[in-house]
Amino acid sequence: MLKIEGLTAEVEGKQILKGIDLEVPAGEIHAIMGPNGSGKSTLSYVLSGREGYEITGGAVTFNGVDLLAMEPEERAAAGLFLAFQYPVELPGVGNALFLRTALNAVRKARGEPELDAMQFLKVARERLKALHISEDMLKRGVNVGFSGGEKKRNEVLQMALLAPKLAILDETDSGLDIDALKIVSEGVNALRAPGFSALVITHYQRLLDYIVPDKVHVLMGGRIVQTGGPELAKQLEESGYASVQAAA
Ligand code: ADP
Ligand code: MG
Ligand code: MG
Repeated sequence: MLKIEGLTAEVEGKQILKGIDLEVPAGEIHAIMGPNGSGKSTLSYVLSGREGYEITGGAVTFNGVDLLAMEPEERAAAGLFLAFQYPVELPGVGNALFLRTALNAVRKARGEPELDAMQFLKVARERLKALHISEDMLKRGVNVGFSGGEKKRNEVLQMALLAPKLAILDETDSGLDIDALKIVSEGVNALRAPGFSALVITHYQRLLDYIVPDKVHVLMGGRIVQTGGPELAKQLEESGYASVQAAA
């Protein structure tokens, strides 16, 4: 699904990613953990194609296609979803229209027919029901006056509607409370399927109590320094990153 080889990248002339090697097979959920400033968010931005991040070496393929050569919109159309970075508020824009526009952009790029308001409502209702989210969510302005938990629900809904092949979740700086962790986890767990992969980036072990990853990678100083199973996250919780650094 995702294959990263020797990836190096700079931000404002400073090398942040120093040779990332990482493979996420189809159907697997991998976690990336690491201390603050290790490059976790930079990696997610580079994968999403955000401006301002200069790739200086290495390669990334997404289902065999050169991801780094694709425009951000093409990445989304190919099934890449970057979650939880910008809970933008759009006063005056109805959430239903916002979600339908996002979905139709992806459908169009995939060569699928766009959904009209009625067709969208039908699809959205199914997803809402599966995720136990109130239908009121569709009627409000995008994120306007939403609580932290409601913003999470809305992003989970967006993710479920777009049905990505690979979801990248960067939770590091958002200081999620337990309720929000559960919402995100349930959303991700509901998508678990042979054709779905996720890269869950987190500073905290506790998210991984809810989303049990197939593999855990430790990112430090712009490199993956250790890879293990879910037990690695527990070990980090107990002995901290210093123990990994000593071993690396
Ligand atoms: P993490 O998500 O692991 O906390 P980041 O990827 O946010 O780490 O940051 C990694 C390093 O890159 C840090 O030293 C940070 O200061 C630096 N960095 C990130 N973004 C920028 C930027 N826009 N300009 C300059 N330095 C940046
Ligand atoms: Mg940080
Ligand atoms: Mg970060």
